[in-house]
Amino acid sequence: MSERTLTAPLARGATIGILGGGQLGRMMAEAAHALGFKTHVYSDVADACAFDVADAHTHAPFRDEAALKVFAASCDVATFEFENVPDDTAAFLATHVPVAPSPRALAVAQDRLTEKNFIAGLGIATAPYVGVSNAADAEEAVTALGAPIVLKTRRMGYDGKGQAVAKTPFDAPAAFETLHSVPAIAEKFIEFEYEASVIAARGRDGSFAAYDPPKNEHENHILRRSTVPSPLSAAQVKDAVGITRRIAEALDYVGVLAVELFVAKDGALLVNEIAPRVHNSGHWTIEACATSQFEQHVRAVAGWPLGDTARRTDAVMENIIGSEVDAWLAKADEPGLHLYGKREARPGRKMGHITRLTPRRS
Ligand code: AMP
Repeated sequence: MSERTLTAPLARGATIGILGGGQLGRMMAEAAHALGFKTHVYSDVADACAFDVADAHTHAPFRDEAALKVFAASCDVATFEFENVPDDTAAFLATHVPVAPSPRALAVAQDRLTEKNFIAGLGIATAPYVGVSNAADAEEAVTALGAPIVLKTRRMGYDGKGQAVAKTPFDAPAAFETLHSVPAIAEKFIEFEYEASVIAARGRDGSFAAYDPPKNEHENHILRRSTVPSPLSAAQVKDAVGITRRIAEALDYVGVLAVELFVAKDGALLVNEIAPRVHNSGHWTIEACATSQFEQHVRAVAGWPLGDTARRTDAVMENIIGSEVDAWLAKADEPGLHLYGKREARPGRKMGHITRLTPRRS
């Protein structure tokens, strides 16, 4: 069966289906409600925090075709807040309801080797990389790329999960084994100056709008802080946004996407990965921009015009991670506090964030 497409802008009060029930889905649902839409969240997690705010929810496995059909029948369009939804789930769903971004965009972003080949195929710079299928490949990768290397599982990695560093060819087989010897990619370890990301949207009519790219700081592989403006020069911002546009156009993308970048010491931009969804490093847009990334995504998937991405203030967004949430009351007198309503504060779990605004300097 062929994929369904949206032929006209979504009508007032239509229902947007969201696959994945985390904080991104929660904030997306809230933005959808502000534009008068209804939401139906589908997650395989029983107490998904997006369920709390959705008009309807389904708790079922992602491969439950009967549940997916019922979900599709209740929605006018479906989208994702989570890229590890199985790509055949997305493809199945797309035969029942228009899905944006497309299952193809999801499939490209889900497999780190396919993703890197796709980016490199567009002539866009990445860290040097090779595919790794076994321990011998891992060992050879260190010689081919130069030490150290980062080994990453091709699938299901996020927040540094499924990664191991090998400093010498001798370390490489053991590093590969820590990834349970699953198909992987080896990348040269980049001594970057800092990390940045471009959050942008492409509409159904091909229109494109990017936000000012933040600088991103990680701790234990988890995003700690995003800051705008970043130290990127105007020329680097233009390049970064241009790269993102080429990626979005090559995927015939609809919705918000994020492109994560390493900024090398010589100023070169290397694409690390594509997130085919709204992104943690774009949360500051809620307070600092006329249109938040969540509203923008809803506009794009609904076939509505994209909103204004202009940044009105400077901003620093900090994540509230794990038990840090216990100190929320100390921050409660500040504007810009967001708590996701998650009941269990497990280590490394994103529990909320706070965005602090200052007047725009430049
Ligand atoms: P990823 O899951 O690919 O986004 O990686 C998580 C984090 O690990 C990145 O944000 C970087 O801080 C670090 N990292 C990933 N790949 C590399 C690399 N090739 N060189 C240096 N650091 C890396």
